[in-house]
Amino acid sequence: MRKQLIVFSTLLLFGASSMVSCNGGEKKTPKEEVKTDVYTCPMKCNNGQTYDKPGKCTECEMDLEKVTKS
Ligand SMILES: [Zn+2]
Repeated sequence: MRKQLIVFSTLLLFGASSMVSCNGGEKKTPKEEVKTDVYTCPMKCNNGQTYDKPGKCTECEMDLEKVTKS
């Protein structure tokens, strides 16, 4: 019975230390904000509708302008 207790406590210690080292290895990775570019018609068609892909306005067929959200 005693052996089991020792094994259990060593496992517990090992587990705890490995958890700590795991946390230490995981350095803070700053969340990089993914800038999502949107495109909008220079004529602000459809109340300045934005598109997530470059292209042409569906209303006036003008080239869409890139809008960088901040
Ligand atoms: Zn347009």
